[in-house]
Amino acid sequence: MPENRTRRYVLAALPALAVTAAACGSTQSPPAAESSPAEPTPDRPPAPTPATPEDALEVLMKGNTRFAARTPAIRNTAEIDAIWTRGIDRGQAPFATVLGCADSRLAPEIIFDQFVGNIFVVREAGNIAQSPTNLGSLEYGQKVLGSKILMVLGHSDCGAVDAAYRDAAPGGNIESIVAAIRPGIAGARDLEEAVKRNVGAVIDHVRSNSALLAEAEKAGELKIVGAVYDIASAKVRLL
Ligand SMILES: [Zn+2]
Repeated sequence: MPENRTRRYVLAALPALAVTAAACGSTQSPPAAESSPAEPTPDRPPAPTPATPEDALEVLMKGNTRFAARTPAIRNTAEIDAIWTRGIDRGQAPFATVLGCADSRLAPEIIFDQFVGNIFVVREAGNIAQSPTNLGSLEYGQKVLGSKILMVLGHSDCGAVDAAYRDAAPGGNIESIVAAIRPGIAGARDLEEAVKRNVGAVIDHVRSNSALLAEAEKAGELKIVGAVYDIASAKVRLL
């Protein structure tokens, strides 16, 4: 058995939330006991099911290490088929939520070397969550689907942050994005620093405007982290 296939199956054997929530549809069952040491159960897709927020972060970062090294997990046709035969159509239990920029180079499933069903993704230019609907999506990822980590992910060469940094006036509804970013990056000396400040400001905004997520974090059910993806190296760095 290939090494990375073994790894994924071991992760799948960790305690998991039962997969009962239909896609954006229903609530979950309580955590299911799990004793099988190696193979996924017949009713659950072979996906990572980290037990703690710290473990969830480790799964994400190890996936990025594989991607950056150009060595993503090999998924043969039997593994891919198992995702459907074991129940992807019956629900989802993504272990992580990622709030990322809409930039086409930032696809979370790819840069963290994950597959369908593993990450609940909310994307908007500038990786902001200014609207109640975006905040609601983040809350859904944690409260309903059981994500253990919420990563706010900025990136190098971000056009939205750059527009705010240069105090540009892009016009149209794009202006609302720039206006949302601008206060959080005040005082930044360059774009790199502005990207980092924006991530921090978004995290502050999430904590201040989502009592649900802030309480989940205090209770140890969720970890909120900031990170920046460097497009040139393909590496994600935690802030
Ligand atoms: Zn961007």
